[in-house]
Amino acid sequence: MKLSPVMNTYQRLPVTFSHGDGVWLFDTDGKRYLDSLCGISVTNLGHNHPAVTEAIKHQAESLLHTSNLYHIEPQQKLAEKLCALASMDSVFFGNSGAEANEAAIKLARLYAHNKGNSQPALMTMSNSFHGRTLATLTATGNEKIKVGFDPLPTGFCCATYNDIESAKAQFADSANNIAAVLVELVQGEGGINIADTEYLLQLQQLCHDNDALFMLDEIQTGNGRCGSYFAYQQLGLDPDVVTTAKGLGNGVPIGACLAKGAAAKTLVPGTHGSTFGGNPLATASALAVIETIETKHLGERVTQLGATMKSAFESALADNPAVVEIRGCGLMLGIQLDRPCAQLVSDALDNGLLINVTAGSVIRLLPPFILSDDEAEQIVSTVVKLINQFTTAA
Ligand SMILES: *Cc1c(COP(=O)(O)O)cnc(C)c1O
Repeated sequence: MKLSPVMNTYQRLPVTFSHGDGVWLFDTDGKRYLDSLCGISVTNLGHNHPAVTEAIKHQAESLLHTSNLYHIEPQQKLAEKLCALASMDSVFFGNSGAEANEAAIKLARLYAHNKGNSQPALMTMSNSFHGRTLATLTATGNEKIKVGFDPLPTGFCCATYNDIESAKAQFADSANNIAAVLVELVQGEGGINIADTEYLLQLQQLCHDNDALFMLDEIQTGNGRCGSYFAYQQLGLDPDVVTTAKGLGNGVPIGACLAKGAAAKTLVPGTHGSTFGGNPLATASALAVIETIETKHLGERVTQLGATMKSAFESALADNPAVVEIRGCGLMLGIQLDRPCAQLVSDALDNGLLINVTAGSVIRLLPPFILSDDEAEQIVSTVVKLINQFTTAA
């Protein structure tokens, strides 16, 4: 077989899409698919959303890029908007989730150094996912993605997710010098695992007691995916740092690291940067995304649709003993089976539906916020049919 000139880093499904329209994607043979994945929670407003397209067109006609050697108007506006939405004080813009987390990790280290802690550690959780760069894969709580990449950076330690005693033990271990904790409120790649609110509040308190930064990775849960703009806003949490990316630009690459209080003043000229980060095109697109979420009240819609879909799954799958648990936060839905079920992704594709399976046995749905009631029902009935066929076969 001829070697593809694209480096072989992805296992790809046998389909190529030529265009999209709202919740639909069309392949090169003209077959249409209901997109219940949104490119992993990126195109949350659907494909070719008119407000986003218009903002991109308008920006492309005036200015694409200048570098951060100069002031950038839409970047300034987006930073103001995000800070107001999230009650944070400042934002650093990168181009991806991993870059947003890199900024958070560097911020935490510099914050610690400024206090005289010259060997700070970052605590992250089992089953977590924080990215694929060297620092973010080291932070990730999954040994498989680290294999072959030694030597890894030092200054990281890991606690068991959703287990406050484990976090306390890491803080108590004098070999660690924990300067910050980075945690996902819902682990997306890890299998739609939802942290208990009480655990998160205790973890935040533990950070305060130890003068460590409480940092949330909202790269997947943010930008309306769980109903509120950031998921932490539903839980009464008060983080020092929040990272996001995925849905922020609806497909235009952009990542953001938001910070509050002393953390917001840590990174100063010369300590961090990015050529593309926060460029006019990406920030104009993100401004249009946020404006659309606000003016169309998509947060409320996500909460309502998510609850409706979750209970529809619960009643339709109640009699299937292979279904272990159905979990959800807004339109971030996971159905855990008692067996590996990657096969369901191809079955769904054959049925004109895009879904994902993560952590081996968890069906993950991340549908667009603009879904109609009928389309939501269509997703539920197709997924239920496929699960029942799959779990009763052989
Ligand atoms: C996707 C994701 C990342 C990495 O984002 P990239 O844009 O792929 O670098 C980090 N953290 C979480 C929680 C994610 O879901």
